[in-house]
Amino acid sequence: MKLYKIKKSKIDKKGLYASQNIEKGTKIIEYKGKIISVKKSEVDPKFDNRKAIYLFNINNRYDLDGDFKFNIARLINHSCNPNCEVFGEGLKIWVYAMKDIKKGEELSYDYGFSFDENFREFPCNCQSKNCVGFIVREGSRWRIQNAKAKRES
Ligand SMILES: [Zn+2]
Repeated sequence: MKLYKIKKSKIDKKGLYASQNIEKGTKIIEYKGKIISVKKSEVDPKFDNRKAIYLFNINNRYDLDGDFKFNIARLINHSCNPNCEVFGEGLKIWVYAMKDIKKGEELSYDYGFSFDENFREFPCNCQSKNCVGFIVREGSRWRIQNAKAKRES
């Protein structure tokens, strides 16, 4: 039985929602795509944007391009307080529950964007208490506070 369903989301147009209670550590959905070599992804103009949302690095030789309709997991939104994590296992990528998730909760993970001067191009709408307002990976979010403080002073 599927652990998720597609629904309209408050974060973005669509999202994935838990269709039942999910225990921490559960594999929820495979992040499907096509395996491409790192060499190719580095030169392919398709990935020539700084934030390749659907591109996952598997190892030093291969990436996974998840930018396909059949990849339902691409509908999972970013959150500053995510309940899922994405892990590679061999050449496959899975979305796991990183905490217990209640039926009806929206699934989310940290997109892991690095911080740069263009962070304002990627606003976050996750509505969690700790939302910093932009899609930036957890370890770099303090930089947003710094950038805001500089602007205001
Ligand atoms: Zn947020």
